[in-house]
Amino acid sequence: MRYSIVAKDDYVSKELTKKIKETINGTYDEAKPSIVFSVGGDGTVLDAVRKYIYLLNEITLVAINTGNIGFYTEFLPEELNELIKMLDDKTNIIKYPVLEVEIDGKVDYALNEVVVFVNHHLFEGKIFVDGTELMDIRADGVCISTPSGSTAYNKSLKGAVVDRDLELMQLVLMAPFETIDKRVITPLILNKDREVLIKPQSKYFDISVDRTFVTYQKVDEIKVRVSEKKVKFLRKSTQNFPKRLKEKFISRT
Ligand code: NAD
Repeated sequence: MRYSIVAKDDYVSKELTKKIKETINGTYDEAKPSIVFSVGGDGTVLDAVRKYIYLLNEITLVAINTGNIGFYTEFLPEELNELIKMLDDKTNIIKYPVLEVEIDGKVDYALNEVVVFVNHHLFEGKIFVDGTELMDIRADGVCISTPSGSTAYNKSLKGAVVDRDLELMQLVLMAPFETIDKRVITPLILNKDREVLIKPQSKYFDISVDRTFVTYQKVDEIKVRVSEKKVKFLRKSTQNFPKRLKEKFISRT
């Protein structure tokens, strides 16, 4: 087994990284792994996906939680031996869709969401779905999320929490300005074959893709669609979506 580790930069994660290397029967191969351990929180998972985005079809992610909420991170450090045994069993896999975003022709990918926004001013632009001009918007911004990302920023913006087995994307406007509030549709859930096109009219704005963000000016078109790529995660057979929601949001103190 060729494996690699993406870890958070803290004591617990570094110690667990050492332990994985001592325990696992495999070769450390950062360039072409088949298993990628993510040791940390959800942010570490997002980093691991970004690092191996062009190898997604070949890798399985094993997400171990040493962080805070850990919505993607099903495993705990003390379950290391158990999860290493599970690696041979390909039935313990769950696949999550990712979004493909094209910014004036340049392509990037998001596991959680793509957000187009402006700080301190209103973001202005037109939103098209499959070529139909649907909305002229003035808002803080637009968030388009995956099902697995629906529990992240999307949830804070009052978007719907979406079951992870569905293949779709969700568009939510961030604080639409009151005079246009009645002429917009938000949240909007679209099937996997649709394409959202944003034509910004604001001069400057930021685009964040999961953890990273870049300030842009003079972008003509931002296209977002559900990608053919999927992220494969090792999963616990005792876990399911409602249970995860309850543990991470309802029962948290
Ligand atoms: P961070 O350090 O600001 O923390 C974001 C929090 O969101 C963490 O507690 C993380 O565990 C949690 N999170 C991430 N993905 C999740 C998911 N799919 N379901 C449930 N919780 C999830 O940022 P980070 O750790 O670098 O994570 C980046 C993510 O932060 C972005 O993709 C975005 O979704 C989220 N975010 C949320 C808000 C908000 O809720 N107001 C604002 C900005 C970014």
